Amino acid sequence: MANTASDLNWASIEGIISDLDGVVYRGNAAIGEAIQAFKEWQAAGWPFCFVTNNSTHTPEEVVRKLERFGLIIEPKDVVTSAVTAAELARTKYPDLRRVFVIGAPSLVDAVAGAGFEITDRKPEAVVMGLDRQITHEKMRIAVDAILNGAVFIGTNPDLLLPTAGGFEPGAGATITAVAVATQVKPLIVGKPEPHMIETALSRLGTARSATLMIGDQIPTDIQAGKRAGLPTVLVTTGVPPLKDPSLAPPDFVVSSLAEIKVLPALAQSPRQRRA
Ligand SMILES: [Mg+2]
Repeated sequence: MANTASDLNWASIEGIISDLDGVVYRGNAAIGEAIQAFKEWQAAGWPFCFVTNNSTHTPEEVVRKLERFGLIIEPKDVVTSAVTAAELARTKYPDLRRVFVIGAPSLVDAVAGAGFEITDRKPEAVVMGLDRQITHEKMRIAVDAILNGAVFIGTNPDLLLPTAGGFEPGAGATITAVAVATQVKPLIVGKPEPHMIETALSRLGTARSATLMIGDQIPTDIQAGKRAGLPTVLVTTGVPPLKDPSLAPPDFVVSSLAEIKVLPALAQSPRQRRA
């Protein structure tokens, strides 16, 4: 049985890393109590950073979306799998120049922004995310490049994405198709891998044991937080969470972020408190 919010020792918390979809909003609808909670944490001086597996929006687009919901943040407060994929490619493979991208314009922008040349001619790396205009020809170029030795990077492993009317295949579905065709395992960037959590931690500058990871999915958010060594909070949305005994359970479970209250005595930043 996981602990509840009242078991959480807020005095030891320095910062927050949180998922977006299912935590702060559901599709285009804000989750009011969550927005209110983040505004209170912001007023209390808690630094936070959002991490999202979605590679089809830029941090700036996320900032504008949250602004419509009344939460004012900056692009540096959002870590997407697109930006992390580009940064990871840059740091892990500093000698690579030519990259073939299958993905949304936001992924192309992120990879180009990291200094790579975007090309389908002799690419040295393939970076793949959700592409709603994917074609057999794009898959052919990716497969051919990978079989010729190109590095294979995937933004996120999500197989299914909920839509207004049902589901659509996620990036993981098409990444898997290329992986199966080539028999090459991609480097996956998004949750449950810890890469985005590490990026967020370095931006926050907080200690990992004192930084909460908040999410609505045990297989992705909670596992990523665990792998990065963070205390984890599952926020339930009324849908019973998937019970998979092979997955590490969250440390805390709340039904609303409103349960996580900033105490008046703690309503100053951790740095102020330490001073
Ligand atoms: Mg989510």
